[in-house]
Amino acid sequence: MRAYHTSAKPPFIIIDLVNLQSIHIKVDDETAWVQSGATLGELYYSIAKKSGIHGFPAGICPSVGIGGHFSGGGFGTMVRKYGLAADNVIDACLVDVNGSILDRETMGEDLFWAIRGGGGASFGVIVSWKIKLVRVPPVVSVFNIDKKLDQRTTELVHRWQYVAQQLHKDLFIRLVIQDVNEVTKGQKKTLQVSFNSLFLGTADELLSLMHNRFPELGLQAETCTEMSWIESVLYFAGYPRGQSLDVLLNRTVQYKNGVRASNRHIHWMRMLYSYMKQYVSHSPRAAYLNYRDLDLGTNQQANTSNLKAKVWGKKYFKGNFKV
Ligand SMILES: Cc1cc2nc3c(=O)[nH]c(=O)nc-3n(C[C@H](O)[C@H](O)[C@H](O)COP(=O)(O)OP(=O)(O)OC[C@H]3O[C@@H](n4cnc5c(N)ncnc54)[C@H](O)[C@@H]3O)c2cc1C
Repeated sequence: MRAYHTSAKPPFIIIDLVNLQSIHIKVDDETAWVQSGATLGELYYSIAKKSGIHGFPAGICPSVGIGGHFSGGGFGTMVRKYGLAADNVIDACLVDVNGSILDRETMGEDLFWAIRGGGGASFGVIVSWKIKLVRVPPVVSVFNIDKKLDQRTTELVHRWQYVAQQLHKDLFIRLVIQDVNEVTKGQKKTLQVSFNSLFLGTADELLSLMHNRFPELGLQAETCTEMSWIESVLYFAGYPRGQSLDVLLNRTVQYKNGVRASNRHIHWMRMLYSYMKQYVSHSPRAAYLNYRDLDLGTNQQANTSNLKAKVWGKKYFKGNFKV
């Protein structure tokens, strides 16, 4: 662990956790200790190397860091069955502001509760986490169905909103909505909705569930692919079938689009937020800590007081933000 001091007043330090990346899997008692500087990809890789019937319910992107992800919650394709990554943390090693090294017993249940969803940065530095591995079947099934706007897609999305949360807990279906070029229509832009799914079981079981509960989507046997859980991790991360697992150890992330594209995307997000405002939490409008919402407010200066921070703090922590 390295700390960088700055000459800013008041001074602050940045702690680099890159070298804290060890992972110890204990298949016999279905637990693991994972250090905060490891990535999700490294964790999934390490589990798969030791067991074909265990996994961990955390986020989809392999390059995400364990420290921020676990402390802010962490959801992925197994969220319906096993909850968040934070729900599956059973102990942690934390260094507090006094330099004391604490575990679950010595930090107490309140602090242990806070670092599992409240974000680590407010409470100390979490060096490592003890997690409960979850059981996955040797065969899981995935599918992806792309629908353009003219394919009764609006009705399907509407139906999905009512069906998705009632489906079997082994079945996860997410929507990815994006604009694409329509080759047949002179590259005109159109919206495409992708129904992207993981099922913890065989394709036959999946087909039967889908035909009973969501027949409107029209899932066919040839659209389903059976694979191992770790292959499904690669599938959701966008890698082609047959890709070596070693790619999960790659820490390089490329950001290509630059400031203009980033501003455009933030503008889209603001339009979406504005449209969705009527359906989501308000007074205060709340947010998932791991998807920071710039419009909830940020600290303007390094020496912001608790009183000033209350403006955004209550929106993330609700009644748990005490001034
Ligand atoms: C490409 C991408 C894909 C994502 N996919 C998902 C997803 O599928 N599901 C999901 O739930 N989220 C997802 N996220 C959001 C992700 O969970 C958050 O961005 C998370 O905060 C990342 O943690 P980090 O450690 O990598 O980031 P950092 O920026 O290093 O840390 C985030 C915050 O946590 C604090 N922190 C980090 N480590 C520690 C520690 N050891 N002790 C105390 N505080 C610490 C930092 O100070 C900072 O405030 C995704 C993010 C990206 C960029």
